[in-house]
Parts: sequence; structure tokens; C-alpha cells
Amino acid sequence: MDFDLTEGQKALVTLIKDFFKRETSPEFWLELVARDPMERMPWDLMKKMHEVGLATLAVPKNWGGEGVDLFTLMLAAEALGQYAPPLFPIYQHDWRTCVILNEVGTEEQKDEIFTRIMKEPTFYMGSSTTEPDYGHDPLLPYDEPGAGMKTFAYRDGDEYVINGEKCFSCGVDADILYLSLRTDKYKPLSQSMSTILVPKGTPGCSVRINEWLVEHLRPNGDIIFDNARVPARYLLGGEDNTGFTMIRDHPRAAASIFLWLAAQIGTSQLIYELTLEYAQTRVQGGKPIIEHPTIGVKMVEMLTKIEQARLLLYKALWEIEQATKAGNLPTSPLGFSLLNAMVHDLHALVALSAMDIFSGRAVMKGTYIEWLVRYVLEDLHGGGTATFNRIKASQML
Ligand SMILES: Cc1cc2nc3c(=O)[nH]c(=O)nc-3n(C[C@H](O)[C@H](O)[C@H](O)COP(=O)(O)OP(=O)(O)OC[C@H]3O[C@@H](n4cnc5c(N)ncnc54)[C@H](O)[C@@H]3O)c2cc1C
Repeated sequence: MDFDLTEGQKALVTLIKDFFKRETSPEFWLELVARDPMERMPWDLMKKMHEVGLATLAVPKNWGGEGVDLFTLMLAAEALGQYAPPLFPIYQHDWRTCVILNEVGTEEQKDEIFTRIMKEPTFYMGSSTTEPDYGHDPLLPYDEPGAGMKTFAYRDGDEYVINGEKCFSCGVDADILYLSLRTDKYKPLSQSMSTILVPKGTPGCSVRINEWLVEHLRPNGDIIFDNARVPARYLLGGEDNTGFTMIRDHPRAAASIFLWLAAQIGTSQLIYELTLEYAQTRVQGGKPIIEHPTIGVKMVEMLTKIEQARLLLYKALWEIEQATKAGNLPTSPLGFSLLNAMVHDLHALVALSAMDIFSGRAVMKGTYIEWLVRYVLEDLHGGGTATFNRIKASQML
């Protein structure tokens, strides 16, 4: 196993670090997140990211993008999580969607979306799977015939007609919504799910905005589909009822979920570094608090867990790349469940350690560390809670 980074990979990580250190600051992010939910998208910053090639990293070279491989994208996601935490959900999701599209999309879909990403600097995508009665179920998946997801689309001529209700969706004003739904009401979900790429402004879609523990840049809301009509060419992959199998059978598409975990590890690294800096400068008992053994030990525990998670992440992606290159499909998503559980544990640990070490200052409104602590705590359920992922992993042993 070789995790030595190439010169190109090192240069990319440096570019991301330098770009966000130059263009942003804690005050920049805090000003954005204090705005109204529909006013938080950093359009000017996105234009600059487009200019330096960060927005187009995952667009294949045929369409003029950077076309970097999955391991390199993961490094970029990790750096984004570290140097631009409020922004990472937007780009890790869009990079991930590009990977999926490249693996399973029709040529027409690739052409339309990749061309738009290249030409429209503020183009971005949203994601919608969860429903009021459908939360963790897709993660197993819970596969009783007809159970679970209710949002349904049927074909009518050259269009799909969508009815149903989604909740908690990020990017409700996105240019394209990556929407998971049913195209068969009665089969198990693994045989009846499809994905439709819903263009912005589709008639029949309405939105209720949600606010969370944390203020996000992408507006989050519930989406109601009332006979919403979408051209049939937007059915991902062009074939009904293949939403699950399509991703499962394309390891790179399935593994693109690791980008999200990579970004989260990056944010843990940032919290660790901010906490270390504070512990080295805050003096109590006549010396910097890092010199008090209880504080030093907490810092070491954080660092150990970050290193463990990062190594497991690199190993998992390395194995997937090797297996894919050799033509052997990796058969088990065990690595994802283990890592997801580990990242949730990591987030709980870094959040509580930072709260302990910053003490009063960790909970003072309007500080970056307070926002970051809320940010990582809020996502302890994402991709399934730690316990849920351990149950899932145990079923694969
Ligand atoms: C800020 C934020 C952003 C989000 N963004 C998006 C988005 O962009 N798109 C989107 O589609 N969704 C999004 N979500 C939704 C998120 O993915 C769901 O909240 C998540 O899937 C969990 O679903 P739930 O909240 O309904 O919990 P539930 O599924 O109701 O789970 C409740 C509890 O039951 C446990 N549980 C559930 N099933 C089992 C089981 N079979 N075995 C053992 N234990 C089980 C869980 O571990 C958990 O502890 C977002 C949520 C938040 C908070």
C-alpha cells in the first residue's frame, strides 16, 4: 500500500490551502452564515473557485475539466473540509455527482451537465432522498416490497410526472436536484428506485425552508412535488428502477460517498489545530494549559483518532481503486460503514474536547469555534448514526 502523494496531488492541496487562506477568514464565514437562509451562497467565491479550476476538478477532461481521479478528489475534499468547512458540503456533493454521472449517466446527461459546470461558474446541485417516513431506511436498504420511499414518478410520453414529499433536502434552489424516487410502487426499493435530475424552476415543485442547529450555506428545505413534469432524458442512466443496482455495480460511483467522509476528517483536523493553538497560548495556573497533563492527553486523543480515521479512509479508497483497475468489483461496503462510525465517533470526540479546552469561549455566540462545534455535532446522524453503521457492519461480517 502506497499513500505517497504525487507532486500534482501535493500542488492541489497547497492550492486549496492558499486559495482559502487568501480569499476567506473566520469572519468571512461568520458573516455569511448570519444571513437569511436564501442569501448565504457565496457566489463571488464560487466564481473565483471556477477560475482556478476547483469547481471543475471532477469534470472529465473530454469536457475540458480537470478530470482528477477519486483518490485525488478525496484529498481535495479533505483539504476543503479543513480550509473551507462551510463550503465543503456544496463541492464534495457536486464532485461526487460528477463521479456518479461519469460512471452511470447517459452521454446526453454527461454532455448537458458537464458543459453547464464548465460554462456556469455558480452552477451547483442539490440532493433529495429523505422523506418524512424514510430516514435511515435507504441505508440498509429496508427492502420489504412497496415499503419505504413514497415519492413516485410515472412516465407520460416524453416526461416523468412526479408526486410526493421530500424533507431535509440541501440545495433547494440548486440548478439541478439529484432526486431519488420510486418508479414502481410495489417492488422492493432495491428494484424500484430511480434517480431523476430535476432542473431548477420545474413547475409543480414547492419548498418549505428549514433552519437547523447550524446555519448552512445551501438552503435546506422540504420539497413538495405536485404533478411536477421533468423531461424523460433526465432519468439518470436512462433506465427505470435501477437507482440502487446502478450505483452498487459501479465501485467508483459507490465509493464517491467517501468524499464526504474525507471532508469531515478535514474539519476535525481544523478543530484540532484551532484547539491546539488555543491550548498553547491560554495561560492558567501560571503556564499554557497544554502543559497541564489533562489537556495534553485530550489533544493526543484527538490527534490519534484523526490519524486512525484518515488511514482507514486512504486504505479503503486505495483498495477500491486497485480492485477497479484489476477488474474485480469490491463486493462489500463494510469499509464505508466502519469509517462512517469512526468519523461520527471522531466528531463527537473533537467537539467535546474542543468544548472542554475552550471552555466558556467554545459556547460564545459569534465565534468560529462555536460554529464549528455545532457543525460537527449536528452531523452525527449523517450516512447513519455510529451505532446504526456498526449494526450494518456486523451484518456483513
Ligand atoms: C442538516 C441536515 C442536512 C440534511 N441534508 C439532506 C439532504 O441534502 N438530502 C437528504 O435527502 N437528506 C438530508 N438530510 C436528512 C438526513 O440524511 C436524515 O436525517 C438521516 O437520513 C436520518 O433520518 P431521520 O432523521 O429520519 O432518522 P431515523 O431514520 O428516524 O432514525 C432515528 C433513530 O433510529 C435509528 N434507526 C433507524 N433505523 C434503524 C434500524 N434499521 N436499525 C437500528 N436503528 C435504526 C437511527 O440510528 C436513529 O438513531 C439532512 C439532515 C440534516 C439534519
